[in-house]
Amino acid sequence: MRAVDIIIKKRDKQELSKEEIQYFIDAYTVGEIPDYQAAAWAMAVVLNGMTMQEITDLTLAMAYSGEAMDLSHIVRLAVDKHSTGGVGDKTTLVVEPVVAACGLPVPKMSGRGLGFSGGTLDKMESIRGFRVDLTTEEFMQQLRTVGLVLTGQTADLAPADAKLYALRDVTGTVQSIPLIASSIMSKKIAGGAQAILLDVKVGSGAFMKTLEGGRELAGTMVAIARLTGRKVVALLSDMSQPLGFAVGNALEVREAVGMLHGQGPADFHEHCLVVAGFMLALGGLAGDEKEGYRMAEMALNEGRAWQRFRELVSVQGGDVRYIDEPDRLPKADLIQTVQAPRSGYLKEINAQVVGEAAVLLGAGREKKEDSIDHAVGIVVHHKVGEHVESGDPLFTVHANKLDLLNEACQRLLEAHGWSDGPVEALPLFYDIVS
Ligand code: URA
Repeated sequence: MRAVDIIIKKRDKQELSKEEIQYFIDAYTVGEIPDYQAAAWAMAVVLNGMTMQEITDLTLAMAYSGEAMDLSHIVRLAVDKHSTGGVGDKTTLVVEPVVAACGLPVPKMSGRGLGFSGGTLDKMESIRGFRVDLTTEEFMQQLRTVGLVLTGQTADLAPADAKLYALRDVTGTVQSIPLIASSIMSKKIAGGAQAILLDVKVGSGAFMKTLEGGRELAGTMVAIARLTGRKVVALLSDMSQPLGFAVGNALEVREAVGMLHGQGPADFHEHCLVVAGFMLALGGLAGDEKEGYRMAEMALNEGRAWQRFRELVSVQGGDVRYIDEPDRLPKADLIQTVQAPRSGYLKEINAQVVGEAAVLLGAGREKKEDSIDHAVGIVVHHKVGEHVESGDPLFTVHANKLDLLNEACQRLLEAHGWSDGPVEALPLFYDIVS
C-alpha cells in the first residue's frame, strides 16, 4: 500500500477500507508516513468527511496503536466521563469523588488545557505535590486499592492520536467531526472504558459553537460506542457562559473544594449532580439517572465526596493542607474587581472571550510547551439572565502583571452583553443522546 494512494482516494471522496485506514495509522505512528502526508490526508478528511464505518475503523486503529488498558480484572464495569472542553469546567474535580463515594470505581485519565479551554491536570497541579504522571502499574494499583485515580494519559496510550492531534492543531485540521469523534473515542477505548458519559459542550466557549454541530458530534460518538460495544450516553450542555463563576486553575480548585463542602454556584452544583447521576446509572449502581442524582446528592451532602477527594489528593502526593485551607493555594498579586458600567439584564457572558482573557493572564497556553501561572484567572459574579445594578461587582480579575490585568479587564467588559428588558437564563443542558 502507498500513503499517496490513500490520500488521493480520500481527496476523490471515496470510502477507505479498514485495511487502508489501519495501514495509514500504523505507518504514521511508527514514522514511516511523514507529517506532510498525514496532514494532506487529514485535510482531505476535513473537506470530504468519512462514513460511519470509516470513523469506527479509524477509532479502533488509533485506540490500539499502543498499549490498551484492560481494567476488567479490577473493576466490574469501567465508567468514564469525557467533557469536550470548556471554560470554567471543573466538573471532574467534583464528579469523580462523588461517583467514587457512591461505590463506583473511577479510573480517570484527563488532559491539559489547550487554547481557551481549561484542563483538569493543570487545575490539579495547583495543589502542591499532586502527581499527574502515574505509571500504568501505579494507575492499576491505586484503582484497586483506592477506587479513584485522576492522572494524565500515559505516552503509550493511543500514540497515533497524540501524534495526529498535535499535527492537526497546527495544520487547520482540528475542526472535523470524524476526526474529533475518533480522537476522543480512541482515547476512551484505549483507557479501558466500557461505559462512557460524554459531556458535549455547545456554545461560544466550546469546540462546537452550535447545537446542531454538538448534536452531530454527540451522535457520531454514540454511534462509535455502539459499533465498538461500549455503553454510552451523551449530554449536550451549555458552554456559552462559563460554568460556575471561577475560571483559572487555583481559582477553580477553590470553587470545587467549596462545592465539595456544599457551597457553590447553583449551575455548577446541578451540572455535577446530573453528570454523576448518569454515570451511576451507566455503571449499574443506580436504576436510572434520577436515582443516581439522589445518590450523588447524598454523597455530596454527607461529606463523603469531600473525603474521597481528600484521599485522592493525599494518595497522589498532594499536600492536603492546600485543600483543607484553600487560602494556601497559589494567589495572584493583583486582584481587581470591576463594577457594572450600567444597570440592566445580562444577555451574554461570552465564554470564549472569558477563556481567552484567562489565557492572556497566563492561566492557559498558547502553545503546548508554554508554562502556566496557576494563580491567575477570573471570577465572574453573575449569570446570563440576572439583573445587575450599575456599580455592582461584575467580575474580579486575578493577575500577576499590571498590563495584562488592564487588558483582561477591557476584554471582559466587552464579553458582557446587556439588555434593558428581561432575558431568560440559559439552560444547563439542551438534550441527551443515548
Ligand atoms: N479533544 C480531543 O481529544 N480530540 C480532538 O480532536 C478534539 C478535542
